[in-house]
Amino acid sequence: MKHVNELRALYQEINTQFIIIKPNGDVVESDDVLFKSKLGSNISSIHPFFINISESLKEEKTKFTCVHLKINTKDFVCDITIRKLPNKNLLIILTDFSEHYNSFQSLAQSRNETAISSEFMEIDNYLLQKKETFKNNFIANFNHEIVSPVLSILTFKSMLSKTQLSHEQKEYLDIIDKSSLTLKRMVSDIFDISKIETGNLSITNKRFSLKKLVNLIKIEHKQKCLDAGLKLNVIYKEDMPVYIVSDKLRIQQIITNILDNAIKYTHKGSITITINPIYRRARKLTFNIKITDTGIGIDSKYFDFIFGRFNRLEQHKHVEGNGLGLAITKQLVELLDGEINIESKPNEGSEFVITLRTTTPLKQTKSSLNEKSTDSDTSKKELLLVENNYSDQLSIFKILAASKKYYVDIAMDGNEAIKLQKKKSYDLILMDYKMNSVDGFEAVKIINKTSKKQTPILVITGHKIDNALLKYYSPYFKEIIYKPFEEETLLKHVAMLIN
Ligand code: ADP
Repeated sequence: MKHVNELRALYQEINTQFIIIKPNGDVVESDDVLFKSKLGSNISSIHPFFINISESLKEEKTKFTCVHLKINTKDFVCDITIRKLPNKNLLIILTDFSEHYNSFQSLAQSRNETAISSEFMEIDNYLLQKKETFKNNFIANFNHEIVSPVLSILTFKSMLSKTQLSHEQKEYLDIIDKSSLTLKRMVSDIFDISKIETGNLSITNKRFSLKKLVNLIKIEHKQKCLDAGLKLNVIYKEDMPVYIVSDKLRIQQIITNILDNAIKYTHKGSITITINPIYRRARKLTFNIKITDTGIGIDSKYFDFIFGRFNRLEQHKHVEGNGLGLAITKQLVELLDGEINIESKPNEGSEFVITLRTTTPLKQTKSSLNEKSTDSDTSKKELLLVENNYSDQLSIFKILAASKKYYVDIAMDGNEAIKLQKKKSYDLILMDYKMNSVDGFEAVKIINKTSKKQTPILVITGHKIDNALLKYYSPYFKEIIYKPFEEETLLKHVAMLIN
């Protein structure tokens, strides 16, 4: 076995040179570990540092640290110790710390750079914050200024559309309608983004029926899908609770944004919304909302990009949009303690999955006593709207829902109405006169004969009805109103028949 000293001789990294010089500087001896020094030559010819070295020494031993020497094109950073020997000669001990000093220097350098750049960052941050505050205040004020004119355009447009217009005027009005809706959407998107960024968008957690909300969204989008030649499916899984505690408005906004995109970027096929429970324990609930389309799809390399503000894919720029929808959606999902993911393949379609963590209310029935919410209001009346024209269905539904006095179920035709009214007792049925399969009047007669409670029926029609027919069926319904009707007319009749 080798001893420490032998090992030291083998492995010690030698970085020290010993040189003996005469008092006049001539080299007497050198071990040349770092550089060659010719015997008899003067040490000052190796480097000017050593000029008159013996005269400048006061002590027996003098140490210089961190001396930079360039010798034969090589750079050294050395600590140099000079000792006076008893025979007046001098011993020069040079220890090379180049590696150590260089790395220390680059560390110091990078420390300096970090300090400088963090100062710059602080300044940048300050300026950025000032800019952001200015931008957000500007948007907040500007939005109020712009929203009211847009709303008044929309209101007067709707009033104008009820007057006698030529075909050409109707077309112009349609353009005004579309453009002002786009403008309204743009303004509210920008407003939402600025509210989220300033932390001013608050979340309200209340009990509501998610099932009803999804149904409402379906009704609102059905016509749009039909116009685009698409089928809209909604799957509300049976084991998913109907009532949840969360922010209804924000969930509506999230689903609507993704669904609107699915409709925009799908040219044929279908769109499916699936509400799926993932985890449920006590009142805790994790569920997801999947929105799947058979549209043009997105390359996976853009998955992160499309969630950025104003980011749109180049190839989709001909489609109307502002690139804010997904950015807002992502931030809303995060505010609701959730996440949004995407799976997609070009030309095959996309699937957006929103996972939300929430709670369920104590009771899943409508008459939950402790919670005050519009959904738990037992004084609300139950209506059944039987209408097979989607746009009429939507406008009647909206009028009734906006009054906040009614729960509205929808049937597409007489057959469905007959089935529904057997399951549930309604306070009023609103029946369209002309429908497929069983027509309105026939359905009215069947319902009237089969319903346990005498549910009043309000017939709605856009057609002139033959007098004899009217006379024959009149015992089976209470009232009839003719389309087009004013909102107040509808609400007045509904209220009158229920009370
Ligand atoms: P936009 O107003 O452009 O639709 P979004 O933020 O909602 O803005 O979407 C950003 C981009 O993501 C869109 O411009 C489009 O390129 C892409 N995208 C979003 N949804 C879909 C989808 N369902 N299918 C294909 N591309 C989509």
